[in-house]
Amino acid sequence: MLIYDLDFLSLKNILEEWNEPTYRGKQIWQGLYQHLYNSPEQFTNLSKPLREKMAEHLTFSPFNVKVYQDSKDGFTRKTLFELSDKNLIEAVLMRYGDPADNPQITASAPDSKNLRGAKNRRTLCISTQAGCAMGCVFCATGQMGFKRHLSNGEIVAQVLYYARMLKDENQVVTNIVLMGMGEPFHNYDNTMAAIDRLNDPNGYNFGARRFTISTVGLVPQIRRFADEKRQINLAISLHAADDVSRIAMLPINKKYNIDEVIDACRYYVSQTHRRITFEWALINGVNDSPEVAKRLASRLKGLMCHVNAIPLNPTTGYIGQATSRERAAAFKESLQQAGIPCTIRMRRGIDIHAGCGQLAGNLSS
Ligand code: SAH
Ligand code: SF4
Repeated sequence: MLIYDLDFLSLKNILEEWNEPTYRGKQIWQGLYQHLYNSPEQFTNLSKPLREKMAEHLTFSPFNVKVYQDSKDGFTRKTLFELSDKNLIEAVLMRYGDPADNPQITASAPDSKNLRGAKNRRTLCISTQAGCAMGCVFCATGQMGFKRHLSNGEIVAQVLYYARMLKDENQVVTNIVLMGMGEPFHNYDNTMAAIDRLNDPNGYNFGARRFTISTVGLVPQIRRFADEKRQINLAISLHAADDVSRIAMLPINKKYNIDEVIDACRYYVSQTHRRITFEWALINGVNDSPEVAKRLASRLKGLMCHVNAIPLNPTTGYIGQATSRERAAAFKESLQQAGIPCTIRMRRGIDIHAGCGQLAGNLSS
């Protein structure tokens, strides 16, 4: 059994079965999530027989690192992990500011106030599934199809992997986005269990507001998420302002149309009072005209939101092209004139296929 799949109670139960005193649970928890240990030998505060038992019954790594690649500018790293059943997933680290210039960052303070500035931002983009069942036409993960859900421990382990790497550089992860391979709301329970684990104040203690979860627009789950009143940021992949165009890009729109998605978003904002983000991949001649921007603005009217547009990243299975800089600026301008805040996101790691929608879990990508 993977140790990162255990919540604290399950870990305590196992230790009880092994006739270990209860405080051992806390020691192991701290070892895993505060000291970031990933092998039984590192737990030098435990007895040798207990360490041996842990080694015999529990696994400490759900994957092997197949390969990692750094972008030419050195700001982005993509790691390809091979899971125990040979499925492949990817996770990406994006550094902002000067990587060498991080005086405030200390390994023991993942949620320190000092890290708020973008300068020291270290954003991790992690996967929740191997492949994806949603089939969005412009997304490399969608193009590969669905393999399987990740367990909560497999999601958590991606974060801990990068946290260890950064710790060696005296840095910490400052933001986590669930925007890698897969649809997080299709794997709702495991995704939330992973977030809860990482958020645990007695463990990794990663602040809820530093997570962003992105969904293709699964309406029942958006409503459930709203009811749970979590402090996590929510982003919705919209990409089109009318149902015919959205169905052509995102087949899930046949099941949940734009009206239903936006209604669920209004419900989310009413329940949580949190601003919602809409993601928009700008595709030349498809969804990047000022007219589309106006249609979008009228749909979003009165909703506390923000549009995050990004020029489309290339994938082998889709012929659409990225919008030009000028058209992107005009799209933003039209939205803003209609009262909807919009930012054009920087594209990252395109040279190593680490950009949004480019993760395909194969070595050649
Ligand atoms: N399944 C979730 C999260 C993973 S995808 C979702 O779809 O929201 C993360 C973001 O990348 C989504 O907004 C998705 O629509 C976008 N995306 C997919 N393919 C892309 C591409 N080729 N270029 C730019 N963004 C893309
Ligand atoms: Fe899945 Fe998101 Fe890609 Fe769509 S964009 S196929 S939901 S990962």
